[in-house]
Amino acid sequence: MPETILEIDGLAAGYGDVQVLWDISLRVEAGAITCIVGSNGAGKTTLLRTISGLIAPRAGSIRLDGAEIGGADPDAVLGAGVAHVPEGRRLFRGLSVRDNLMLGAYLRRDRAQVARDLDFVMETFPILRERAGQDATTMSGGEQQMCAIGRGIMSAPRLLMIDELSLGLAPRLVETLGEALKEVNRTGLSILLVEQDVLTALDLASHGFVIETGRVTMTGASAQLAGDARIREAYMGL
Ligand code: ATP
Repeated sequence: MPETILEIDGLAAGYGDVQVLWDISLRVEAGAITCIVGSNGAGKTTLLRTISGLIAPRAGSIRLDGAEIGGADPDAVLGAGVAHVPEGRRLFRGLSVRDNLMLGAYLRRDRAQVARDLDFVMETFPILRERAGQDATTMSGGEQQMCAIGRGIMSAPRLLMIDELSLGLAPRLVETLGEALKEVNRTGLSILLVEQDVLTALDLASHGFVIETGRVTMTGASAQLAGDARIREAYMGL
């Protein structure tokens, strides 16, 4: 059995009176790229926010390398090794690309390794080196996505979670981002992708989970899911 980095069991979460996630159970394999797909409003973002500690779980457990992180605050989850690249990038206006990247490392004290990681991020996304001094929010959507992913990498996570990698980006850019993520994954970093674009997600990931109205409805190897008649009909228009 491959090693599991993240294990979720019976998770429930929501907002006020509204329950969004129901009895979610899933496993993310260490060292792999895993995806969670589903339509708009299925609860994918809510799931990532619950893992990150931004929303408190109402039931169930979230374990990172066997240790419970469910209900921990966001800094504790980040410190435990989970980075969250939010939907819409959320870069800081008025701060340069370099400063936005360095914000990802704000909990770290290992300066020499932080400098090496900054170099790695700029090697992976060369445009960020070119634009290092520019206000990050003045860049194109794709460049901002690279910066947001870079900021996540700068926290030296063991699990990098990305919400809507491809949203609003041209297909060629998505391809470039995907290649970069595969390179990052080859360094041993586990990646959890959340996507509405099912084809892109299943192409990058080795394993996937389908979420519909807050419940996991299907799971399997990406190739198997991509060939499934229900998925092809519901999400690929085939
Ligand atoms: P998207 O990709 O559009 O973000 P999603 O699958 O990530 O979709 P969520 O954003 O998790 O879905 O939303 C799931 C449900 O929770 C939706 O019905 C949404 O209206 C509801 N919801 C999201 N945020 C809040 C909030 N702050 N307060 C109340 N309900 C919310």
